[in-house]
Amino acid sequence: MARINANYQKLPGSYLFSEIARRVAAFHEEHPGANIIRLGIGDVTQPLPRACIEAMHKAVDEMAEKETFRGYGPEQGYAFLREAILQHNYTSRGIALSADEIFVSDGSKSDCGNIQEIFSVDNRIAIADPVYPVYLDTNVMAGRTGSLGSNGRFSGVTYLPCTDENDFAPMLPKERVDMIYLCSPNNPTGTTLSREELAKWVAYARENASVILFDAAYAAYITEEDVPRSIYEIEGAKDVAIEFRSFSKTAGFTGTRCGYTVVPKTVAGRGAEGETVPLHGLWNRRHTTKFNGTPYIVQRGAAAIYTEEGQRQVRETIAYYMENARLIREGLQKVGLTAYGGVNAPYIWLKTPTPSWDFFDRLLGEAHVVGTPGAGFGPCGENYFRLTSFGDREQTKEAMERICRCF
Ligand code: PLP
Repeated sequence: MARINANYQKLPGSYLFSEIARRVAAFHEEHPGANIIRLGIGDVTQPLPRACIEAMHKAVDEMAEKETFRGYGPEQGYAFLREAILQHNYTSRGIALSADEIFVSDGSKSDCGNIQEIFSVDNRIAIADPVYPVYLDTNVMAGRTGSLGSNGRFSGVTYLPCTDENDFAPMLPKERVDMIYLCSPNNPTGTTLSREELAKWVAYARENASVILFDAAYAAYITEEDVPRSIYEIEGAKDVAIEFRSFSKTAGFTGTRCGYTVVPKTVAGRGAEGETVPLHGLWNRRHTTKFNGTPYIVQRGAAAIYTEEGQRQVRETIAYYMENARLIREGLQKVGLTAYGGVNAPYIWLKTPTPSWDFFDRLLGEAHVVGTPGAGFGPCGENYFRLTSFGDREQTKEAMERICRCF
C-alpha cells in the first residue's frame, strides 16, 4: 500500500463550518418556520459588475472565431491584465514594480496555500491568531509544524496573538522566524495594520532575513486614506515581501476565480550552499509547472474592473457592503456590545459576553441570526464573534433589529 502524507493526519478537520451547519440544521428542525438570517457568510452576494459581464461576453464571442480563438495562455497571465493591475494598484500609488513581477492566478486561496512550497520545510513560520486558516493548514500539510496540542496550537509554530489588548496588531516574535504571514485588512478581525506597524515588520524581516507573506485580499475595502493598501507602500518591503491580492471580494469573483501574487525580483531566500536565491524564479518555475493559466474569458472580465465604468461599479458594490458594515457595527454598539472592524473591511469582530459558541447559540436561538464563533479562527478568537457585511441590505437591517431586541 502506498504510504500517505501523514502530516494531513495532524489536521483536526474543518470543524468550524460543519459545526455551524449542524447547529443551524438542528435548530431548523425544531423551529421549521424560523426565518434564519446568515451573517456568517464570507461570500459575496451582489452580482458581477456590468463592465466585467460585457467584457466576458465579448471574450466568449472571440472564442467562437478561428482568428480570435485562444488556447493555452501565458501561465503568468495575459499582459493586458498584468499591465492594468500594475498601473492601477501600484504605479498610480507611487510603487515601482514591473508587470512580470505579477503572477495572475485562479485566486488567493491557491496562492497563499501554494507559496510555502518554494520554502524549506525547516523554516519556522509566524502566523497571527486569529487568522484565515489556510496559512496554517497548508504549512501543517507540508510538515512545517509539529502536532496539535490540547491548547489548540501546533508545536513548532510561532503564534502572534491579536486581541483588543494590542489593538489586533501582532507583536514581533521573541524568537527568529523565517516566514511571516500578515493579513491586512484582516479576516476575521476586520482590522488593519497601520503604516507604523507594517514598517516594524518590514524592519524585522530585513534584520532577520525573513520573508513576509502579505495577504491584501480585502485591500479594496480600505476607506481611510492613511491605511496602506499594499505592503510595498513601506520602504524596503520590495526586498522582503510577497503580496497576495484577489478579485473575489474586490469585484465579486468568488465564483468566477481570479487573483494575483506579486513576487518582486529583489525578494530572496538562501539556497542549499548558503547562496542567495531570488524567489521570483522559483515561483515562476512552480507556477508554470503546476498551473496552466487563468481562463482568457475570466482575465478579460478582471481587466474590465480597471476601466472607468468598472471602477465606478466596483466602488458602488463595495459601498453597498460597507453600508451594511456600518449598520452592523453601529447596531452592536447601540446595545452596548464592543465591535471592531467594519471600517476598512467587510468584517465586524465583536467581543462576546460569553464564550463564542454560547453566543452563537444565543444569537441563533433568540434572534435567528447566524454568525461565526471567533474560536474557530484560533485560540485567541475565543470570546469574539464574526459578522459579515456581504448580505442583503434588508436582511442585514432585519438581523440588527432582532439582535437589538435580544440585548
Ligand atoms: N485571503 C483571505 C484573508 C480570505 O479571507 C480569502 C477568502 O475568504 C482569501 C484569501 C481567498 O480568496 P480567493 O477567493 O481569491 O481564493
